[in-house]
Amino acid sequence: MTLKAVLFDMDGVLFDSMKKHSECWYKAMTHFGFQFSPEEAYLHEGRTGAGTINIISQRQRSCDATPDEIKEIYQYKSDLFNGMAEAEPMQGAAEVLEKVRASGITPILVTGSAQESLINRLNKHYPGVFVPELMVTASDVKFGKPHPEPYLMGLGKGKLQPCEAIVVENAPLGVQASTAANIFTVAVNTGPLDDNVLLNAGANILLNSMQELADKWEDLYTLLHG
Ligand code: CA
Repeated sequence: MTLKAVLFDMDGVLFDSMKKHSECWYKAMTHFGFQFSPEEAYLHEGRTGAGTINIISQRQRSCDATPDEIKEIYQYKSDLFNGMAEAEPMQGAAEVLEKVRASGITPILVTGSAQESLINRLNKHYPGVFVPELMVTASDVKFGKPHPEPYLMGLGKGKLQPCEAIVVENAPLGVQASTAANIFTVAVNTGPLDDNVLLNAGANILLNSMQELADKWEDLYTLLHG
């Protein structure tokens, strides 16, 4: 393996935003009459909004939601999210990015997020780290995680082979997407799920925080880069 790039997921990896997302999904789904727990949001993390809504609709009503319903529910969820205080950067993430760049490795962003203020937020908290040409966002993808598409696009944007990159992910569906793209996957368990959920999804290494990744970066780099 010749390590050239690290593909970073965003929510739950670079920003401590999953608690907010989980709460907003819970409030939005229950507002529209669906049974949904805040914990369940973590199992759907990474899926497109429409994908999540349809799975819950199928479970409860045995049919997909209509396009109008999807739009209304997702808008309600997004409005709740945007009305809350901005999520903090994940502790340890800045140090990880600094170490990655100091090793001569390129950081690439791969997120299912569609937030308009994405680039501004990244530049505010991680200035100069991510460039638009090396970002995959919700507007780029058709399928979304757990499909390998977002990570394959990330490799494509960086002109990389799977053996030239690793992925940093916090969500089981994200780990599935990454391993389906044949990329070595570091899972950081920053949420409430059991470690086994991430390991069973196919994670090659499991860490408990971004700080742990920062602390172990040199070892990991030596291990992977040789
Ligand atoms: Ca995530």
